[in-house]
Amino acid sequence: MERVNPATGEALDPIEADDETAVEEALSTAEETFASWRDAPLSEREELLANAADVLRENRDEYAELMTTEMGKPLAAARSEVEKCAWVCDYYAEHASEHLQDERIGAEPGVDSFVAYEPLGPILAVMPWNFPFWQVFRFAAPHLTSGNVGLLKHASNVPGCAAAIENVFREAGYPDGVFQALLVGSDAVDDVIEDERVKAVTLTGSEHAGRAVAETAGAELKKTVLELGGSDPFVVLDDADIAAAAETGARARTINSGQSCIAAKRFIVHEAVYDEFVDAFVAEMAALDVGDPTDVVDLGPQARADLMHDLHDQVERSVAAGATVELGGDPLDRDGFFYPPTVLTDVPRDSAVADEEVFGPVAPVFEVADEAEAIALANDTDLGLGGSVWTADRERGTRVAREIESGAVFVNELTKSDPRLPFGGIDDSGYGRELGEMGIHEFVNRKTIWVQ
Ligand code: NAP
Repeated sequence: MERVNPATGEALDPIEADDETAVEEALSTAEETFASWRDAPLSEREELLANAADVLRENRDEYAELMTTEMGKPLAAARSEVEKCAWVCDYYAEHASEHLQDERIGAEPGVDSFVAYEPLGPILAVMPWNFPFWQVFRFAAPHLTSGNVGLLKHASNVPGCAAAIENVFREAGYPDGVFQALLVGSDAVDDVIEDERVKAVTLTGSEHAGRAVAETAGAELKKTVLELGGSDPFVVLDDADIAAAAETGARARTINSGQSCIAAKRFIVHEAVYDEFVDAFVAEMAALDVGDPTDVVDLGPQARADLMHDLHDQVERSVAAGATVELGGDPLDRDGFFYPPTVLTDVPRDSAVADEEVFGPVAPVFEVADEAEAIALANDTDLGLGGSVWTADRERGTRVAREIESGAVFVNELTKSDPRLPFGGIDDSGYGRELGEMGIHEFVNRKTIWVQ
């Protein structure tokens, strides 16, 4: 599998892909392992997960460097990502028993009726490159602990991360076969889904990949969870703290060099504070450092050359449609795939940056006349992942949050994932939830038992 360092454009050592025999072996190991792993005491599975958290913390810097080399994330952010993975392991190590205990439902006097949560079997996880550790641990921590076994098909540009994650579980003491990485391209995914040993699939990635996976899984009647793209609104109302909104808005747009599903992607600003916000926001975006991700910088490169070209194409099409460039707007003239923080105003509402998911540090800012127009524009998308609302009035914020059509809304904060809270989207952003108690219940048989 070919790898390119996005900070330099130079090829890294390729990693040998798995052939059909290796995939077959992995599937049969997964099936065999599941037979015993499902019956291992939950306390043992929780203990192993706590060990995985330790392994992550012990090797944090090594894993962080690997991510930075393969996909260009600034090193400090990569270190935080490893720590967040340890956090999600801690969370389920502490809470899995509580989330998975039998749930008694007193249907009738004298009857013991309850729901038991039982694992399904081998689960395929198709994962993206943008948070190459976090996305995988967000899947693995709950679902291995509930007694499933995991098969990871990671994005093709981060095979080193895939192999390293497999090693985390090995070092933590997990039996072989509880978590295995399949080093294959996306063309191998359908066959794995269709294999009868695989019981369910989760995919985090683009809408296109989500539709492809759901179609195959649907034909096989296999459960799917889809975590797809977002075009999250960042709504600034007339009573907002503009300095705070501008500072957090710049971070929310540029987190992971702009390549986050829950990055703020459309800035929707009340006309009473529009000029003030644009000035403050452009200043915040302009102050961000872009550079070598192994240095202390705010933004590194985009993860692949093609992604940077697609991003620039979206900007060019929007400018051709009438948008004004307030900041940035052209790839940086240096090796690697660097795109600067970019702010666009006068953006036509049917232009590329308004209409398509923008996966890079490009922020369109829209002016609206009132709260109702802000909500209407926030909802004018087929995607529905996250959203952020800024107002000095918490009740107003809560009311507007309820009216935004998405899987999450944060008031006076950027949208973020948290092991304790469910995470997921609606509409073309996918379905199902990860994290929290709801997340661990996605890949279990919620079995009703009635004892007369
Ligand atoms: P992507 O191109 O869809 O790739 C994601 C994964 O799907 C990769 O492993 C990829 O494999 C695989 N894949 C691609 N096409 C496939 C197909 N036809 N059948 C089966 N598998 C296929 O997405 P990406 O560029 O890596 O990630 C960016 C996208 O992910 C954005 O849209 C972003 O918003 C979304 N995302 C969503 C969340 C969330 O939680 N909702 C989180 C992060 C990212 P190859 O690499 O081998 O092609």
